[in-house]
Amino acid sequence: MTPIALTLISQKELNDNTVDLKFSVQSEGGFEAQAGQFVRLHFTQADGKETFRSYSIANIFEQEAQAMTEINMAVSWVEGGLATGVLSGMQAGDTLEASGPFGRFCLLPERHDRYFLIATGTGVTPYRAMINVLKERLEAGSEVYVVMGAQNETGLLYAEDFEALDDAHERFHYVPCLSRESRLKPRPNDQAGYVQLYLATHHFDPATDIAYLCGNPEMVDEAFTLLKEKGLPIQQIKREKYISPKPRG
Ligand SMILES: Cc1cc2nc3c(=O)[nH]c(=O)nc-3n(C[C@H](O)[C@H](O)[C@H](O)COP(=O)(O)OP(=O)(O)OC[C@H]3O[C@@H](n4cnc5c(N)ncnc54)[C@H](O)[C@@H]3O)c2cc1C
Repeated sequence: MTPIALTLISQKELNDNTVDLKFSVQSEGGFEAQAGQFVRLHFTQADGKETFRSYSIANIFEQEAQAMTEINMAVSWVEGGLATGVLSGMQAGDTLEASGPFGRFCLLPERHDRYFLIATGTGVTPYRAMINVLKERLEAGSEVYVVMGAQNETGLLYAEDFEALDDAHERFHYVPCLSRESRLKPRPNDQAGYVQLYLATHHFDPATDIAYLCGNPEMVDEAFTLLKEKGLPIQQIKREKYISPKPRG
């Protein structure tokens, strides 16, 4: 575990319930991360015990792995949450103890022909981090689907980054799946319903496809079962569930 300190530089509202927090990173040995990884922020429980919460690095990486002096995180507020309470009260210049980077929710070195990168909420940030690496894979012939579940348009975090790639590349598909309300100006790929409904319409080829699932644990579990039933080997279904650790007793 590499201890780091994070100092808040700025915050930007992404929607009613989500902010993008930008931190500078202080670390003795420097901080190098891979697109798709996360950091742990350290907190103290009400009973005085140390605990942590994890947050994916949301920056668009220039390359697959790089040294970083600043990181962004998209944080959704959870009512009564420990991290929510601390983070929502932070001012520019305030510092947090943290550690990282952690995680293997990254692109594998070998290229797959088709990528299905599936998310709900802030679970889309690892894919944002990967955008430049995905561009390389697209240039090499891959097809990429970013399938994004949200209740309505405001939940489509960082949509502009994915739409720009969708406009620029015919083999990149940004597929918003809106469960409650469609967009005022829908785009051709927009879907109504949960991401699972959209995935159910696809045929998956175990020889060429890989899927990544990130965000709401219920979505991750349901989509995992669906993809497995549709023949995708479990080694080709990568998962990251956004859950808090159990309180330490
Ligand atoms: C690898 C990893 C990466 C993560 N990345 C991100 C990220 O980039 N952005 C982000 O916002 N979160 C992310 N999370 C989730 C994050 O770590 C926290 O779990 C979340 O922010 C809630 O923390 P909290 O301390 O505010 O709430 P807690 O004190 O943990 O929870 C308070 C109460 O709310 C419930 N609860 C917890 N989470 C939710 C939820 N999402 N919806 C409804 N109820 C909930 C809890 O069960 C508890 O009852 C990630 C989790 C993991 C494991």
